[in-house]
Order: sequence, then structure tokens, then C-alpha cells
Amino acid sequence: EPASAPTPGSAAAIRVDPECVFCRIIAGEIPSERVHEDETVIAFKDLSPKAPVHVLVVPRTHLRDVRELADEPSLLAHVASVAGDLAAELADGDFRLVFNTGAQAGQTVFHVHAHVLAGGELAEGEM
Ligand code: AMP
Repeated sequence: EPASAPTPGSAAAIRVDPECVFCRIIAGEIPSERVHEDETVIAFKDLSPKAPVHVLVVPRTHLRDVRELADEPSLLAHVASVAGDLAAELADGDFRLVFNTGAQAGQTVFHVHAHVLAGGELAEGEM
């Protein structure tokens, strides 16, 4: 019996795209203000925040979007769990979780990331 359970999603190999800005952040080649890291995900502050707290929760493995992430349910659940923990740690616990999926929906980085928006009353329709 192991002392602690493995981090959800840790069984899968980590894919890397050397051209991907978030893979480069994960590798430490591009600086970021990290607020969480574990075996399978990292979280860092968004460069252009849209709310008082705006962090991105990013699986270490290079998956394109939330539809690909949904093929790894335990990793998807872990992203949601980390998002909730960070909203409680950095704000009052209330948060909005956004996955822009596809260019027309505003996705600009094609490495899946959850936007965690928190820290005040968020307007309807505001990202
Ligand atoms: P999306 O438009 O949903 O693909 O979100 C991409 C997000 O990544 C945007 O909110 C950007 O502000 C943010 N972003 C892009 N480059 C960086 C970076 N180097 N560090 C932190 N956030 C970034």
C-alpha cells in the first residue's frame, strides 16, 4: 500500500510540443508567476488578467483542448479540483471556470488551459 495516492492523470506519458508557449512555460524556458504545481498540472497568473484573480490551470501534457482533456477524466477532474482550491486560496472561493475551445470561441493557445476567474463580482458574459 503506497503512502499516498498517485496524482490523478499521472499514469499517462507527458507529451511536449517544442513550439507551444505553454509547453515552454512548463519547461521553464519562458517565465511565469506560478501559483501551483504538482506532478500533472501547473497554474500560473494570466499575463493580461480579466478579473482580480485570473490564473490558468494547465495540464503538463500537451493536449489541444478540453475535448481531448475529457478523454482523461481523472486529469480533467484534477484540473477542476485545483481550480477550486486556488479560488479558495487566492480569493473568497467563488470562481468562474472557462475553457475557450476553438479559435472562434477565443482560444489562442492550443494547449488546454482552464481560466480561473475570481476575486469579486464577475459580470455575466465577462470572461
Ligand atoms: P485563450 O485565449 O483561452 O487561449 O487563453 C490564452 C491566455 O493565455 C490569454 O488569456 C493570455 O493572456 C494568456 N497568456 C498568453 N501567453 C502567456 C504567458 N506567457 N504567460 C501568461 N499568460 C499568457
